[in-house]
Amino acid sequence: MITVEEASAQVLSRIPVLEAERVPLLESLGRVLAEDVISDIDVAPFDNSAMDGYAVRYADIATASEDTPVTLSVIEHIPAGVEPRLRVAPGQASRIMTGAPVPAGADAVVKVEVTRAGENDGGTGGTVEILATAKLGENIRGKAEEVRAGEAVLLTGELIGPAAIGLAASVGHDHLMVRRRPRVAIVSTGDELVDVTEKPGPGKIRNSNSYSIAAQVTQAGAEPHMLGVARDTEEDTRALLSRAPEFDLMITTGGVSMGDFDVVKKVLEEIGELDFWRVAMRPGAPQTFGTIGGTPFFGLPGNPTSTMVGFEMFIRPALLKMAGRTALARPRVVATLTHDVRKKADRRYFMRARLTATGDGTYSVAVSGNQSSALLTAMHRGNCLMSLPEGESFIAAGTSVMCIRLDMEEGTA
Ligand code: AMP
Ligand code: MG
Repeated sequence: MITVEEASAQVLSRIPVLEAERVPLLESLGRVLAEDVISDIDVAPFDNSAMDGYAVRYADIATASEDTPVTLSVIEHIPAGVEPRLRVAPGQASRIMTGAPVPAGADAVVKVEVTRAGENDGGTGGTVEILATAKLGENIRGKAEEVRAGEAVLLTGELIGPAAIGLAASVGHDHLMVRRRPRVAIVSTGDELVDVTEKPGPGKIRNSNSYSIAAQVTQAGAEPHMLGVARDTEEDTRALLSRAPEFDLMITTGGVSMGDFDVVKKVLEEIGELDFWRVAMRPGAPQTFGTIGGTPFFGLPGNPTSTMVGFEMFIRPALLKMAGRTALARPRVVATLTHDVRKKADRRYFMRARLTATGDGTYSVAVSGNQSSALLTAMHRGNCLMSLPEGESFIAAGTSVMCIRLDMEEGTA
């Protein structure tokens, strides 16, 4: 058996980064940029007002205060979206709205809250009293503050989030060049499986793994393709596994333990190449990895939680790498164990657990339910995997343990 770290390193060394494609702007959300995004204009395109108020000459209002107000004549009203026509001369002001271009001659904007309307209600042709001074340039947002024409506003390798979508839109890009989403084939194996729509007959159970895996694939930003269930025969398993080259990655569940009908490893060795098949971890020691026709292949164990933990530890980082991501590890946090744990010393344990913030900046952690790998509820109720190292067989309450956060994305925290 190899360690979790050895298995991860072997997997990642075989994972390619996928090519790029040009997609409509909104479809780029969650993907990795494969080009710099260059702006066609200055953003902002012109100096503009950050406030509703009056565009003034600083020299005119430098000494203004409540007791010594300065009265200016209002020459123009400038709404957003309209080009000013008049230059502000000494003793003058223009009424201006947020986002409107600052008129020539003005070098500060006084917000409306520190003015008092005079003649004509402070409108064009009337007057305004300025009741407070402003700094030179105050409330003026500069031309090209975000980006200059011809310069990059987004860089190759950056992950596209909502703010990046907004930036791309502001510089005129309605399509972006991003890494392709991995296409992932999902196969469940087992004569006992029936579909979710069926009531299981004697000896049968519903196929839940195809669904939980498809959900994990989707959450990892990849595209699930459920190919169905392979019966526990070499022919049926071969027929589905041989479709691996149609996809970027293939995942099977079940059929990799020591039972009489566990044929996945045998078929993999026959039509592909086996890299490893056992990892010193619990749940899910029978983690099978290899390639079929060059496509990375993962034979996950059949027990529903072993399947999900195997996906989390090995497949999710692989899918992120394919999609061009560079942060591949979930955030980890040290927490104080609230109860004793007994384990086998020969392997790493990933216990389904719940982290709780204690309020003083530290965390406590406890298992989130029955740890049988056949059960999913503890996985559902938990928010982390408590990682307990090889070499230990008893971990006492109060010990600091490492927890892998499943509720936070890679590259955060
Ligand atoms: P196996 O590795 O094929 O022996 O499967 C181990 C356990 O996981 C058995 O109890 C199976 O019935 C169960 N199992 C296998 N595949 C699935 C599946 N797709 N959905 C739910 N349970 C499964
Ligand atoms: Mg089976």
